[in-house]
Amino acid sequence: MSRYAVTNPATGETLSTYPQISDADLQQVIASAESAYRTWGRTSSIEERAAVVRKVGDLHSERREELAAIIVREMGKPIGDALGEVDFAADIYRYYADNAREFLADEKIELAEGSEGTAVMRTNPLGVLVGVMPWNFPYYQVARFAGPNIVVGNTIILKHASQCPESAAAIEQMFRDAGAPDGAYTNVYASSEQVATIIADPRVQGVSLTGSEGAGSAVAEVAGRHLKKVVLELGGSDPFILLSTDDMDATVESAVAARLDNSGQSCNAAKRFIVIDGLYDEFREKFTAKMLGVTPGDPLSEDSGYGPLSSLGAAEGLDEQVKRAAAQGATVTRSGERDGAFFPTAVLSDISPKADAFREEFFGPVASIYRVSSEDEAIEVANGTPFGLGSYLFTTDPEQAKRVADRIDAGMVYVNVVLADSPELPFGGVKRSGMGRELGRFGAGEFVNKKLIRIG
Ligand code: NAP
Repeated sequence: MSRYAVTNPATGETLSTYPQISDADLQQVIASAESAYRTWGRTSSIEERAAVVRKVGDLHSERREELAAIIVREMGKPIGDALGEVDFAADIYRYYADNAREFLADEKIELAEGSEGTAVMRTNPLGVLVGVMPWNFPYYQVARFAGPNIVVGNTIILKHASQCPESAAAIEQMFRDAGAPDGAYTNVYASSEQVATIIADPRVQGVSLTGSEGAGSAVAEVAGRHLKKVVLELGGSDPFILLSTDDMDATVESAVAARLDNSGQSCNAAKRFIVIDGLYDEFREKFTAKMLGVTPGDPLSEDSGYGPLSSLGAAEGLDEQVKRAAAQGATVTRSGERDGAFFPTAVLSDISPKADAFREEFFGPVASIYRVSSEDEAIEVANGTPFGLGSYLFTTDPEQAKRVADRIDAGMVYVNVVLADSPELPFGGVKRSGMGRELGRFGAGEFVNKKLIRIG
């Protein structure tokens, strides 16, 4: 039975179901993607591909209300956040259209003295790619992968999360309406086994997955066996280090915003708040009060603090994690009890380094606070998880900012600023948060053949 269905987490109602693709049709999809790569991907101009990607961005803007409404019912995203996500995805497509020529320009290599001729690095596409995407930002995650790769000349088979079949179809429709040829971008409702079949196929050159560690390692295992290039954007438990501030209220405001964005379900949300001794009590008191003052509500109402979690299962899983943290000695303060997929805010403190909560990611409105006595200890706690995605650092000392930023094991460090993601800023992590980068110029440099052309 197909798992692809829209189930509104706010009501529990299943609104639509979608059949899984057959194995025979999947073979047709791969053949069509390969044919589009050989023809359009290799013979169209950068300008032609950029025009398609720009149009996809513009269609996001034109259809923003309709697109936003889809993800409210698919995964409970509050309507304001949903509109913001559609706008951000549109900006990403336009960013790659605007910069395609520069990102794909030949890079000249200076030859050793006495050598005749020229040498350049040319940026060629790799071929057919498969993208495996999660439910938490259905448009934005796809934009980060599809925008740069279509501009480069790769073609895409996209397997979206099984709870996002409607947004997945809407994205494919925008590529079609933007003039992308058959096979350039194809959405498939595929099982994990079928994803493995696609990766293994000799006509496919790479896979990009955004999601959990489990899915990342399953996909990377298949890719490794078949020697395919991989980009993985996985989970995170980003530290928010507070060492000094001249405005505690504003810092607390930033801390709460960085935790509750997307109803707490962002991979790069601040999740662990690591606070220097002298500021700890004040921060804990103000932060807890502010967190507990925010409550979930109808995702269609602009007045709700945040929405339901993406599904009942996600909320039940988070509940179990919080209860286990309490059983393992953490102090837990919650704003209420869970009601179906609606999860209250919670603040955890006194977490032992031996507890699961010290290392796990909490994918919802749950924050952990740690007291530290020095800059060194703050760095140690920050680096003390298996993850290394993003991080946040608050300090009034510019030298300290540079020193600490250098020592954090993460792909991104934001200093005195939160929620500042932007199309030109590369995104990605280290350790169990994954490998490779999306966005910015690096996002257009992952699935490419950097080809040397040496002319004597
Ligand atoms: P998930 O279960 O791993 O799902 C992500 C995608 O992977 C879905 O399309 C899913 O398909 C697919 N998938 C799962 N197992 C697979 C397998 N064995 N083979 C092929 N595909 C497989 O992730 P999630 O729990 O929905 O998403 C939350 C996680 O994603 C969190 O850990 C979060 O931090 C992380 N995340 C990371 C980033 C980043 O940029 N680093 C961004 C957003 C989210 P089905 O839906 O059909 O199972």
